[in-house]
Amino acid sequence: MSSTDCVKVAVRVRPLVEREISRGCVQIVEKTPGEPQISITGESNSKTQDSYTFNNVFMPEDSQDKVYNDCITPILGKLFEGYNVTILAYGQTGSGKTHTMGTVFDGEWDASRVGIIPRALKDIFKTVQTMENDYTVSVSCSFMELYQEVLFDLLTDRPREQSVCEIREDGTKGIIINGLCEIPANDENKANNCLILGGSKRTVGATAMNDVSSRSHAIFIVNVRSQKLDGSESTSAKFTLVDLAGSERSKKTKATGTRFKEGVKINQGLLALGNVISALGGGSSGGYISYRDSKLTRLLQDSLGGNSVTLMVACISPADYNIEETLSTLRYADRAK
Ligand code: ADP
Ligand code: MG
Repeated sequence: MSSTDCVKVAVRVRPLVEREISRGCVQIVEKTPGEPQISITGESNSKTQDSYTFNNVFMPEDSQDKVYNDCITPILGKLFEGYNVTILAYGQTGSGKTHTMGTVFDGEWDASRVGIIPRALKDIFKTVQTMENDYTVSVSCSFMELYQEVLFDLLTDRPREQSVCEIREDGTKGIIINGLCEIPANDENKANNCLILGGSKRTVGATAMNDVSSRSHAIFIVNVRSQKLDGSESTSAKFTLVDLAGSERSKKTKATGTRFKEGVKINQGLLALGNVISALGGGSSGGYISYRDSKLTRLLQDSLGGNSVTLMVACISPADYNIEETLSTLRYADRAK
């Protein structure tokens, strides 16, 4: 695959929320009709360009269904061809990452709310069913949280302080996460239960920007292994869904102490991720890709580049008061293309 095929970037603008409407916020984000292009109409000192073009642009009125059909369906099939498929949601806290990814799921199928992960699980098991005459297929799930450079297993029965996992590199097997639970999931229900169970164990903390905001990266992995019944072929691929920690800089969140330290670690991880993705997409042919710069990129090493397809969904707020963070997200996403 060429580099333009292996990294795609979509931008999603969420609707103004109640709180913004009552504060009198105005929408400063527009889409160029007929083109996947976003322009920012508000004033900002840091503005260096007015418009940005991506693979897809979704506006506030675009449904969960549309986002899924336009950007996930086309790449999900690659999983069964043996490619690793990775979806990353990037953006400031409150921009719609969790809504888009579907990281928080209560098992209730409301089509207007349900996000990417439960939809993808449904489709994966649909495909598995069509394969069952010719293949043995096994599916398993893992769910982790990376908080302040410490990796927690969200699916273990062990108490949180004993759920820490270490990342190890193995010459032949690639990245290995020592002790990480891989829960066999032979149907949609079992896989959804992993999502629900893990979600209930996540770390949350209050910042000035959002009552309960996620200050950690959530990483949900679906392993799909298939073997033809006559033994003639087998594939193994990983579907990785990452709901990244909020990208906002610590100043705006009025962060001090622990919150400030969290912000520094988060920004280091996101910076390293941006560098890796930009090196992959930018076709820095033969260039050195520095996965080692953060735990996030080490962890995602075999899900980014090589035999993998990556989609970044950059989530932004439409409101004028978020213009600086919105521009910063657009610049980050623009570098990733
Ligand atoms: P994040 O995970 O980036 O912090 P959330 O996904 O929690 O942000 O979204 C913040 C709020 O905005 C939530 O109340 C969510 O339901 C709402 N929201 C986000 N995106 C959309 C959307 N596209 N349509 C409707 N509501 C949305
Ligand atoms: Mg979130």
